[in-house]
Amino acid sequence: MGNHNGNNGQKGQPAGHVVVDASDLQGPGVVFCPNPKMPLWSGHPRVFIDVASTGSGKCAYCGTVYKLDANARVRAGH
Ligand SMILES: [Zn+2]
Repeated sequence: MGNHNGNNGQKGQPAGHVVVDASDLQGPGVVFCPNPKMPLWSGHPRVFIDVASTGSGKCAYCGTVYKLDANARVRAGH
């Protein structure tokens, strides 16, 4: 119970966030990062991020958070 985590968070540049629509999905509920909508290219390998299951996803490389638009409808394995 007395578990004290000395986790002060990670230092670094503030991560941006990109709101994506269903039309921006590059696959079955995923987006790629770096994303063409981003003005800045971080130069990391292209990775896919699942945004459909939880509504958002974070890139492990650059920390950009992708949020699926609330109005977006994604087919969830119909
Ligand atoms: Zn990224």
